[in-house]
Amino acid sequence: MALVKNFFIALSNNAFLNSAAKTIGPSLGANRVVAGNTIDDVIKTIKRLNEKNISVTVDNLGEFVNNERDAIEAKNNILKVMEAIHEHQLDAHMSVKLSQLGSEFDRGLSYRNIHQIVSKAEAYDHMHINIDTEKYDSLFDITQTLDRLKPEFNNVGTVIQAYLFKADVLIDKYPDLRLRLVKGAYKESPYIAYQTKEEIDENYIRLIEKRLLTTKNFTSIATHDHNIINHVKDFAEKHDIDKSKFEFQMLYGFRSELAEAIAKEGYNFTIYVPYGDDWFGYFMRRLAERPQNITLALKEFVKPKALISLASVTLGAVALFKILRRKH
Ligand SMILES: Cc1cc2nc3c(=O)[nH]c(=O)nc-3n(C[C@H](O)[C@H](O)[C@H](O)COP(=O)(O)OP(=O)(O)OC[C@H]3O[C@@H](n4cnc5c(N)ncnc54)[C@H](O)[C@@H]3O)c2cc1C
Repeated sequence: MALVKNFFIALSNNAFLNSAAKTIGPSLGANRVVAGNTIDDVIKTIKRLNEKNISVTVDNLGEFVNNERDAIEAKNNILKVMEAIHEHQLDAHMSVKLSQLGSEFDRGLSYRNIHQIVSKAEAYDHMHINIDTEKYDSLFDITQTLDRLKPEFNNVGTVIQAYLFKADVLIDKYPDLRLRLVKGAYKESPYIAYQTKEEIDENYIRLIEKRLLTTKNFTSIATHDHNIINHVKDFAEKHDIDKSKFEFQMLYGFRSELAEAIAKEGYNFTIYVPYGDDWFGYFMRRLAERPQNITLALKEFVKPKALISLASVTLGAVALFKILRRKH
């Protein structure tokens, strides 16, 4: 199982495959979990979800940004989506990755970009901006960025990854921010992160409980795990925690029926909606989390467009698989 997970994480980190995939558009089943290529596509999806009483957080997909032009283009795209959300008066906000704004090669540039985004969002009826967490080596940059933005804005927050040993410290550091709590999606070393599902689930529940009991601020519990969701519902009821203090979140295309049922029960619910042509890394991380998602891809393989996609990724994938197998 670990081998399969490592395989898909390695694919998600492969710059060549990510870039090749851009030219063919969401394929291999990714179109089931990515809401199209354009702002119009994402606006239609938000409207459809809002009608079901479900809020949206939009991810303008982008991986491997390594030059100023691409970082500025990403920032401009994010600003355009925000403008469209505001114009249509939709119930939606943005999820943003600092790497997409240039943090991996110029932290000054990424800070200027995120500052502009948060400042514009503030002007758009206090729209929330969530800074998504990525690999551990980018965490310091995220906390530094938040520490600089916090005194000026209160419409910005981030994500806590429960697999990290230091997640606890981060929960304590940011009681005054809106936070999303997740299990964690990247492959991290055993020196800094829990490795087994049991350990991660246990820490995740502990952090959720601690956060709900200790903060007045809004908390997003982002998981597809029905056991965790049921636990949170019971815990909130037992401790008299009002439904307005938290929400559940899921990714677009996963467990939609469960999401709608929870929203109908009167819980706040937000769906994370990714869109854009940079779909490959995002999709591979989803396959790593849940290899059963591969059926999404297999169903697509019979289509001609998918065969071209398959050919372009296979060579690189086989090479990576061999490297990984050698390591085990
Ligand atoms: C809205 C959102 C935002 C996120 N943002 C980030 C982020 O910024 N940084 C980051 O590192 N990670 C992020 N993640 C990913 C997260 O860290 C996990 O990797 C991912 O959510 C998988 O863990 P899980 O909690 O959903 O449950 P898992 O541990 O994957 O699944 C637990 C159990 O739930 C059930 N289950 C799960 N999925 C399904 C399904 N599709 N159908 C049926 N049953 C299912 C199964 O019984 C499974 O055994 C985000 C996730 C969500 C939902």
